[in-house]
Amino acid sequence: MDPGSYEGPFLTDRPARSREEKDQPGNSYLSASPFPRPGKALIMAALSPLTEERAMTAISQSVDLDRRGRIAVLTVNNPPVNALSQHVRQGLRDGLKQAAADAGVAAIVITCAGRTFIAGADITEFGKPPKEPGLHEVLDLIEGSPKPVVAAIHGTALGGGLEVTLACHYRVGVKAARFGLPEVKLGLLPGAGGTQRLPRVVGVPKALSMIVSGDPIGADEALKAGLIDEIVDGDLTAAGVAFAEKIVAEKRPLKKIRDLDDKIAAVRGKPEVFAEFRKSVARQTRGFRAPENCIRAIEAAVDLPFDQGLKRERELFQELMTSPESKAQRYFFFAEREAAKIPDVPGDTQSREIKKAAVLGAGTMGGGIAMNFANAGIPVTVVEVAQDALDRGLGVVRKNYEATASRGRLTMPDVEKRMGLISGTTDWSKIADADIVVEAVFEEMPIKKEVFAKIDKICKPGAVLASNTSTLDVDEIASATKRPESVIGMHFFSPANVMRLLEVVRGEKSAKDVVATAMSVGRRIAKVPVCVGVCYGFVGNRMLHQRGREAEKLILEGALPHKVDKVLTDFGFPMGPFAMGDLAGLDVGWRIRKGKGVKSAVADRICEMGRFGQKTGAGYFRYDKGDRTPIPDPDVEKIIVEVASEMGITRRKIGDDEILARLLYPMVNEGAKILEEKIAIRASDIDVIWVYGYGWPVYRGGPMFWADQVGLKTMRDRMQEWRKTQGEDWKPAPLLDRLATEGKTFTGA
Ligand code: NAD
Repeated sequence: MDPGSYEGPFLTDRPARSREEKDQPGNSYLSASPFPRPGKALIMAALSPLTEERAMTAISQSVDLDRRGRIAVLTVNNPPVNALSQHVRQGLRDGLKQAAADAGVAAIVITCAGRTFIAGADITEFGKPPKEPGLHEVLDLIEGSPKPVVAAIHGTALGGGLEVTLACHYRVGVKAARFGLPEVKLGLLPGAGGTQRLPRVVGVPKALSMIVSGDPIGADEALKAGLIDEIVDGDLTAAGVAFAEKIVAEKRPLKKIRDLDDKIAAVRGKPEVFAEFRKSVARQTRGFRAPENCIRAIEAAVDLPFDQGLKRERELFQELMTSPESKAQRYFFFAEREAAKIPDVPGDTQSREIKKAAVLGAGTMGGGIAMNFANAGIPVTVVEVAQDALDRGLGVVRKNYEATASRGRLTMPDVEKRMGLISGTTDWSKIADADIVVEAVFEEMPIKKEVFAKIDKICKPGAVLASNTSTLDVDEIASATKRPESVIGMHFFSPANVMRLLEVVRGEKSAKDVVATAMSVGRRIAKVPVCVGVCYGFVGNRMLHQRGREAEKLILEGALPHKVDKVLTDFGFPMGPFAMGDLAGLDVGWRIRKGKGVKSAVADRICEMGRFGQKTGAGYFRYDKGDRTPIPDPDVEKIIVEVASEMGITRRKIGDDEILARLLYPMVNEGAKILEEKIAIRASDIDVIWVYGYGWPVYRGGPMFWADQVGLKTMRDRMQEWRKTQGEDWKPAPLLDRLATEGKTFTGA
C-alpha cells in the first residue's frame, strides 16, 4: 500500500466529542454527524454578500474556493471531522491549481468549516485500495506552490491533517486548537512526511515526544515550539486572510519546512539524544513495534537529505503497515468503537438523566468508584454502615488525590474541588434523591439483597440501582426490589479510579433505558463500558478463572511460578497470575474456597503459612521490605514439589510454548462458550474487556483476535490432543470446533 495515499484512520477521537454526543451509545465516527452538514446555499448565505472578488466555487463535494480580495480561501467541509476523504484531497489539489493559475490571487488560505480542522483520514476508506490523488501529491503541490499557503487551524489538526499544515508555508491557529500525530496509537507512523517535517520545525526532542507518544499539544505549546506562527482570535477565516495579507505585504519568503535545517543540525552527530530518548520510553513502549520505527524515521530526518528521508519514512511505514502489531492495533481501534453498540438498544435510546450519584460502601472499590464520579464533576454521596469505616474510606480517597497532586498531575485546589463533590454519610435517607446508586458492599448475596431491598424503599422512582458485584447473580439481586427493571450490574475493576474497563451487566429485566444510562454514564466517567450478560464471573473473570486453574496445574507438573509469570510478561502482560495473586491478596480466594469447601492444594498450603502475598511480605514469591519486586522463593518450590509428590505427579520440564498455550487456549475456549451463550455480544467485545481490564497487550489485539491469528484449527487440534491426557477441561467448545472445521475466525480478522 502506498503510504502516500494512506493517512491512517485518524482520529476523530472522543475527547473532542460534545457531552451530548458522548452520551449517545452506538455513535461512532463512521456514522456520527454531530453537526448537520450545511448545504451550499446555507454556506453562501452565511457569508457577506457576494461581490466580484468573492465568488465561491465548489471544487469538489467537500472543498470550496472563495476569494477575499487577492487571497484565495480553500475551505474543507467534510463533516463530522473534515477527514481527508478522496474528495477532500482532490478538492485541495484542484483548488490549489486553480488559485495558483489565477493571476489575481496573491496567497492561499486553507481552513475548515465545522468544529475542527482536518482531524485525520477517512476511516471508511480504511483497508480499501488507495484512491487518487494520494496525500503526498497534495502536499507536494502545497509546499511547491509559487504563492504562500497559510493553514488557519481550529479544533484538532491530527495525523494527515497536521501533515497538511506542515506542507503549508505558514500556520496560524486559535487558542483552543490542538496539534498531534497520533499514528503510533495504531501501530503506524505519520506516513506523509510528518516524521521529516515536524523535527525540522519543532526540533528533534519535541518531535520525538509528539510522534512517539501520539499525544496532541495545545496552541501555546505549539507557538513556543515554532509549530505555528501566530495564535489568532475572532473569525478564523478573516484572521487567516489578514495573516496572508501581511505575508504578501511584507514580501515574506515561502517558508518550506523541507528546507529548514538549523533545528535538526543541532542534534546531528549526537546519537546520544536518540539513545537517551529510547531509554526514557523503553518501559511504556515494550513490545510495540511502531515507536522504534518512529524514532528511526526521525533519525533519518536528521541524517539524510529531505527526499531520502521521505523514502526512509515510506519504508519504515510499510514495515509497520504489514506488521502483526499494527494489524492488531487497527483491529482494536474498531473493536473499541463497536463495543459501544448494543443491537437492541439503539444509539438514540433516551437515557435517564444523571446529576447526582451515590455509592454504597467506602471500601477498596467504593472509594475508587466515588472518585470517578467526582472526577467527572458529578456530586456523589458515599454511604457506610459505621462512621469509622466511612472516615477510613474517605481518608484513602483524599490520600489518592494528594498523591496525584504531589506528582504534579492535579492542583491542590482541584483536590479540594473533587473532595468537595464527595460527601460521606451513615444516614441512608441522604441518597433518596440520587439518580444513580452504585452498590459496593461485601460480596455476599444476603447482604446485597438486604441492601437492595433497603434502597428500593429509599430511592426516588427512576433511579438506576447498580451493583458492582464481581460474581453474584444480578437477577437475584434485582429480585430483592420492586423495580428489577431499574437494576443493573456495573462491574468496575480494581483500582476503580484507574482501570478503564466497566462491564455493564445487563439483567434479564434491566430496562433498555437503564442499559443505555449505564453505558453513557460509564463513558462520562471516562470508562470503556462493555455490555455483558449475567453468568458467574461475567466475561473477564470467567475467562481469568480458566487461566488460573491451568497455572496451578502447570506448577504442579513442573513449571515454577516465576517461569509461568515470565511467559506471560514476555507475551506482553504487565504481570503473571502468581504475581497478580500476591498483589490482590491470596487470603481472599482462600476464604472463599473454605466457605465453599473447595481446595487448591498449593495455594491453600501457602496461605496456611500466613503468606497472603505482598501485604505479608510473602506469597508465591517473597518481597523485600518496601519493594514490590517478586523474588522466587525456594520455600515455595519445596511446597510445590511436596504437593506434586503427594498427588503422584511426576514433574517434568515444560517449554515456554506449552506454558503459553496451556494458559491462553482455555481462556479462548471459555470465550467461545461465552459467545455461544450470548453473554458477550461479539468476539471483539471480549477483546476490549481483556485489553482494558486485564492488561492484555493491545498489539496482540485481545484473546479472540489472537486465537484467530494462531489459527482456530491449530488450537482445536492441540486441545484435542491434550484432552486425551488432561481430561474434559480441554474439550473444545462447539463454536470453536465449528469455526475450526469451517476454516473461519471469531473476529473476521
Ligand atoms: P471491601 O471489603 O473493601 O469494602 C466493602 C465496604 O462495604 C466496607 O467498607 C464495608 O464497611 C461496607 N459495607 C458492608 N456492608 C455494608 C452495608 N450494608 N451498607 C453499607 N456499607 C457496607 O470490599 P471491596 O473489595 O470494595 O468489594 C466491594 C464489592 O465490589 C464486592 O461486591 C466485590 O465483589 C466487588 N468488586 C471488588 C473488586 C476488587 O478487586 N476488590 C473488583 C471488582 C468488584
